[in-house]
Amino acid sequence: MEKINLEKYKGIIFDMDGVIFNISEAIEKAVDDSVEKYEMNVNTDEVLEELAHLIEEIQNYPVPKILLNSYDLLQVQFLEGLSFFKKLRIAIFLFNQFNKYKDAESSIYNGIDNLIRKMYDKKLRLAILTNNKSQYAKEVLEKFNLTKFFDTIIGFNEVSEVKPSPEGILKILDKWKIKPSETIFIGDMTTDIDAGTSANVKMVCVASGLAKKGTLLEHNPDILVDNTELLIKLFDI
Ligand SMILES: [Mg+2]
Repeated sequence: MEKINLEKYKGIIFDMDGVIFNISEAIEKAVDDSVEKYEMNVNTDEVLEELAHLIEEIQNYPVPKILLNSYDLLQVQFLEGLSFFKKLRIAIFLFNQFNKYKDAESSIYNGIDNLIRKMYDKKLRLAILTNNKSQYAKEVLEKFNLTKFFDTIIGFNEVSEVKPSPEGILKILDKWKIKPSETIFIGDMTTDIDAGTSANVKMVCVASGLAKKGTLLEHNPDILVDNTELLIKLFDI
């Protein structure tokens, strides 16, 4: 198996959901509840990927903002063929269920905290880049005692364009005064891969569950690992 020699690098950027924080269970439960309540005939596995993208972006929006952004929301195939109001009702139910499950059911991936600590001990600079609010990332880091390891947190409020734009990555590199070739970005979605590729950093993708491996491979990450365990082995520290 390929290994990454960290001596060559100065900074590591982490995506939050799906890399550090595991929200899969909460999304799956919210989808199951919606499918059951509205007697929808869908394959849960197939809708998870598109809902995961959507939820990452809008999970902390208040309902009025969800409605303002309802164009994206209502484009999801999951809701295809239903009337506007039914779509809206299901979507809002789904988000409420997700938010209900998120705190109780979600935790960080096993071993990811150790990996972060070891990278920090090697004097690497560490950042979070999420399409969610930076405040949300701060709360998760605080809850799991990871705050001190990250010197930079960029959420959607800190950029004009979220991932797949490379803007957030470039902003971090500019702050750190390091080159793309000295940087690794670790993400779990196609939008992460596209952002990393555009920014010319080393792009490591972890297929932790919500996006399908085949879809991720189509976007050509430099390295793709199947899970957190293999991600940790990749770094050999
Ligand atoms: Mg993610």
